[in-house]
Amino acid sequence: MSSEVKTTTCYMCACRCGIRVHLEDGKVRYIDGNPEHPINKGVICAKGASGIMKLVSPARLTRPLRRRPGAERGAGEFEPISWGEAFDMLEQRLAKIRATDPKKFALFTGRDQMQALTGLFARQFGTPNYAAHGGFCSVNMAAGMIYTIGGSFWEFGGPDLERARLFVMIGTAEDHHSNPLKIAISAFKRRGGRLIAVNPVRTGYAAIADEWVPIRPGTDGAFLLAVTAEIIAQGLYDRDFVARYTNGGHLVVCQPGAANEGLLARTPGAPESDTDWPPVQLWWDRHSNRAVPTHSEGADPYLFGEYRLEDGTPVKPAFQLLAERVKRYTPEWAEGITGIPAATIRRLAHEMGVVARDQKIELPIAWTDSWGAEHQTVTGNPVAFHAMRGLAAHSNGFHSVRALAILMSLLGTIDRPGGFRHRAPFPRAIPPAAKTPTGPEAIRPDTPLPGLALGWPAAPEHLFVDADGKPVRIDKGFSWEYPLSVHGLMHNVIGNAWRGDPYRLDTLMIFMANMAWNSSMNTVEVRRMLNDRDAGGEYRIPFLVVCDAFQSEMTAFADLVLPDTTYLERHDVMSLLDRPISEFDGPADAVRVPVVPPTGECKPFQEVLIELASRLKLPAFTAADGGRKYRDYPDFILRYETEPGSGIGFLSGWRGRGGEKSMRGEPNPRQWEMYAANNCVYHHRLPPSYQYMRNWNRGYMEWAQRVRIRRYGDPVIIHLYSEVLQRFRLAAQGRRAGRQPPEALRARVATYFDPLPFYYAPLEVQATAAGNYPLAAITQRPMAMYHAWDSQNAWLRQIHAHNYLFVNPAAARAAGIADDDWIWVESQWGKVRCMARFSEAVEPGTVWTWNAIGKAPGAWTLAADANEARLGFLLNHMITEEFSDPVTGQAGWYDLRVRITRAGDDEPKRTWPEFEAVPAAPGTGAFA
Ligand code: SF4
Repeated sequence: MSSEVKTTTCYMCACRCGIRVHLEDGKVRYIDGNPEHPINKGVICAKGASGIMKLVSPARLTRPLRRRPGAERGAGEFEPISWGEAFDMLEQRLAKIRATDPKKFALFTGRDQMQALTGLFARQFGTPNYAAHGGFCSVNMAAGMIYTIGGSFWEFGGPDLERARLFVMIGTAEDHHSNPLKIAISAFKRRGGRLIAVNPVRTGYAAIADEWVPIRPGTDGAFLLAVTAEIIAQGLYDRDFVARYTNGGHLVVCQPGAANEGLLARTPGAPESDTDWPPVQLWWDRHSNRAVPTHSEGADPYLFGEYRLEDGTPVKPAFQLLAERVKRYTPEWAEGITGIPAATIRRLAHEMGVVARDQKIELPIAWTDSWGAEHQTVTGNPVAFHAMRGLAAHSNGFHSVRALAILMSLLGTIDRPGGFRHRAPFPRAIPPAAKTPTGPEAIRPDTPLPGLALGWPAAPEHLFVDADGKPVRIDKGFSWEYPLSVHGLMHNVIGNAWRGDPYRLDTLMIFMANMAWNSSMNTVEVRRMLNDRDAGGEYRIPFLVVCDAFQSEMTAFADLVLPDTTYLERHDVMSLLDRPISEFDGPADAVRVPVVPPTGECKPFQEVLIELASRLKLPAFTAADGGRKYRDYPDFILRYETEPGSGIGFLSGWRGRGGEKSMRGEPNPRQWEMYAANNCVYHHRLPPSYQYMRNWNRGYMEWAQRVRIRRYGDPVIIHLYSEVLQRFRLAAQGRRAGRQPPEALRARVATYFDPLPFYYAPLEVQATAAGNYPLAAITQRPMAMYHAWDSQNAWLRQIHAHNYLFVNPAAARAAGIADDDWIWVESQWGKVRCMARFSEAVEPGTVWTWNAIGKAPGAWTLAADANEARLGFLLNHMITEEFSDPVTGQAGWYDLRVRITRAGDDEPKRTWPEFEAVPAAPGTGAFA
């Protein structure tokens, strides 16, 4: 018997821990954590250790499949075909679309880690209709933070728990940055740090918090604004930090009715631009008592007051406007909205402010700021935050997240020890430079898209709309409806394509997203749309391609199924061009290498894209002689450069012909081997003087420009006040030349594009009679499972095989419900029958359940009467896609309002709605 240990990177969730896969005679026997890996240092979780059951799952798709001629979509009746036939079919279809109207092809992907490749494919194809899952996950978290501080949580940055003294988690799921965060919290608590969890539910991290602060879902913005009001009222903000590193001291034009009202004042003749570099915006200097360009030598801005420029224009510092704004958000006001007592809000605000002010850290690290000032130390205000989907997945989430980013900035914690730290390639410019094309003329037959499918608008001119202001993208991304939809709106694709609004598609390719089940709101209706035909008898979405490793609920609706590999069977990269694994002290990226050969005829989706791109002769994948440029995916990763000779590729380690360079260098033919020999990870540690204050760190910025992490070296000033939002508002008010929103959207844009954060009740709450639906209903992922993938995993199913609706006993008793009763949960959109379980660990106005455990009968090759199908349920059946965040289009998953009633004794003890069982697809069950 031969034993072997191979290292690679886990993908049982998105944390990307290093793992060791132990094999005997070429078969995987068990998986443990890799002690040499910087992310998890040997720690492995239940999911990671259960990877073997993903590999050998009976639900694995192992052959390409075509819907059996005459079979209805959704019936799950397929016949196997060869890869040659599948590629021929796709090539023929896609070539025709590309040669006529490329936007009729749409590619949307789930929680993959290869968006740099999928995005490149879509762009080269020439379609604007591309996005990943961010629009229904946490785009508010990305956009709200990046439009404010130039970075965000998760892969992009996080809490520095090594030095923090106070750690506030608000709206965090248990799976984001799972092992690394657990390791860090454990050490933080051992060092005596205090953990506060603000969350409607006390599970996971909140369960080990020193203080649990229950909050009503969707009211986080009210809490954060009240804390900010208190911090300002008590003078607990870091004045020096705010003055120098944010736009709090920048003067804002306050001339009522002026064309530039609400924009930042600038030196005469200076153009409106997103950067204050070289400084052209103005401070009111305390020493000379006059307006001066920001960061003028020796100047120091007033943060409060009102002034007149030489030409008589009235102006106020942005901080003054912020203080005026939050004055209305008293703790007493917030108590009525959040359910958190005013005294608690005050106490927490004081604690944050006092810890930040009185427990300062000084690290003996010299650095130079963007304006040339030399600093002998790096200062830290040790209050750290972590936030995620609990804040984001609301139709008011963008402004809640902005409020959080502003609070963190006022406390002086951005990219400082003990606070929030960026991870490369962040910080980015505010907003980042990447832009989409701006009109339908960008879509041309047989031509790549002249811009990215996803970008960062800074003004109405950057929207992707036609001359009438109508959307160009199928999901209406970057339109006046959702101007800053920087991750797209995957949740709108099927509905829009079904309605033909703004147009119909020909082919929709879905990778790794269970859109017919747990990844769709209003699931029953979405399934109907997928199966619906037009008056001519053609499916409204004519051709559906699904690429997945498993027979999910979605595969039943496919016309063509492409069997993907698992993470143990393929090459993969976690790239700086995409979603790297960077650490606070420098960029890091990682790879996966195959530890076993692909199962059956499975093919990595990466290989599918390379093959299709080569067959379609997409320019970036085609050699000068017209032949294919890349042999396969590993070859593509080795040789692809962002521009010819740029030296920048997907991987930053071991570049240069012999692997002697890093970050930038010629392609290295042995790069995969070098990663494999180094635990599949490359970590570039920055010198200490480049590790902090990176928004304004001259040395870091120069380095980042050299290695092309940043395009420009200008400082990234924190936007307490968002001029970007004000530009949209002025356009909506008809006071800005250029693009105007359609009349029907003017009021909406003018309301929600407020340059300062504000609180409004989530749109669903506004549209719901509170007396009829008194409870908030939310989901969260269990620590032991990641999306639908794992709720069919033979080992993990033993932890959760069905779910309950967790109800506070007080709320349950008020509704006449006993523990374990069958109940009906109803929203104004739909209803579900499920079992109730009492829990004191939920605030009384909220009910909740685990996400994606309920399954359709027969899906994932589980028995039709498996607990997941009989007892498990989804809240999705009761959620509408109507109410997305009006700024970003983020799906408002957590805005759901419901009522609960006891099910009748004569009703079946099984979940409702019920679905027809689908048969096992050919090729599944290979390991049963
Ligand atoms: S935390 Fe995620 S990546 Fe890490 S071992 Fe667990 S499942 Fe794998």
